[in-house]
Amino acid sequence: MKINKAYKFRLYLSNEQKILINKTFGCTRLVYNYYLNKKQELYKKEKKNLSSYDCIKDLKNLYVEYPFLKEVDSMSLRCTLFDLDNSYQKFFKEKLGYPKYKSKYDRNSYRTNFVTNVYKNKTYENIKLDLINKTITLPKLKEVKIRGYRNLKNIQGRIINSTISREKDNKYYVSVVFEQELEENKIIPTKIIGLDLGVKDLVITSDGKKYDNNKTIKKYEKRIKKIQRKLSKKIKASNNYYKAKQKLARLYSKIKNTRKYTIHKITKEIIDNNDVIVTETLKISNMIKNHHIAKSIQDASLSEIIRQLTYKVKWKMKSIYQVDTFYPSSQICSHCDYKNEITKDLSIREYVCPKCHTQLDRDINASENIMFEGIKLYMKELLS
Ligand SMILES: [Zn+2]
Repeated sequence: MKINKAYKFRLYLSNEQKILINKTFGCTRLVYNYYLNKKQELYKKEKKNLSSYDCIKDLKNLYVEYPFLKEVDSMSLRCTLFDLDNSYQKFFKEKLGYPKYKSKYDRNSYRTNFVTNVYKNKTYENIKLDLINKTITLPKLKEVKIRGYRNLKNIQGRIINSTISREKDNKYYVSVVFEQELEENKIIPTKIIGLDLGVKDLVITSDGKKYDNNKTIKKYEKRIKKIQRKLSKKIKASNNYYKAKQKLARLYSKIKNTRKYTIHKITKEIIDNNDVIVTETLKISNMIKNHHIAKSIQDASLSEIIRQLTYKVKWKMKSIYQVDTFYPSSQICSHCDYKNEITKDLSIREYVCPKCHTQLDRDINASENIMFEGIKLYMKELLS
């Protein structure tokens, strides 16, 4: 089985390279919007569709009208036309929203597909990633310094495309997608683990391990509150207001990165050491209502944990089960199966079984129950 896997690196650019990237954002946007309009007009008048290939053929006329289009990576312009066609297909087939015009206030990014050819016995490739020297070669930009994946020395598989983006914190990134071969042989599971997803600790395992909620996030959270307070007192559109907003965006992206890094470490460790992973099903409806920063970060973390576990499990040919939302994992005694209705109070950290009198850590007891429930689900699937 083949899978696509993306690797994201931070780009370290010269001023000229930054200018060129920003120009490319503008040019791909222009091409996208120009042909979106053209498609609409043609459909209105003649009920005909303009395919991405029609658009690409027509591009040379646009080059005459806007000569600056020649300055940027031509593949990026073609890719944006494929995207446009794609969003049209989605609109017709899946009844998703009608394609919208792109604005410069949207996320700024452009994609370029990998191409290779041989000319005079020399192989030419438009995207080249060098993990030893930490550089990437991209069309028109030439060599760019990168950072990320410190210990990775080479990546298996072939490059499919790369996406260059400018994020809210005004930093530039490239995401390189590789096509990789997955080993087909399904492993025979020998280790099963249950995970309780919590508030104080992010993850509590049935092996008794607790993954702490990242402390740096709490530190950032205090700073965010401070800036938000300041922001509310500043005059809108003033210089200071703008500065504070920038600061806030930087903090948010710092939190996002720290959180992602922590979660990658946790999920990797869990999957490396186990074959069957069992978690709870998150109650999404309860989550959306939350307006507290801490709580919303927490919720985002928990769904990110499940998301990462789910795709990483696939790569390793392992499996994941999610027990029912209504499964009372914190009320059952993992030793004797007795169900104690009165342990719902979250402040009680200990579970004391009224029947067998075993004293257990509340969260570890829950994760053990989740694991046992997972075994049932696994057996059911095995026998069906
Ligand atoms: Zn008991």
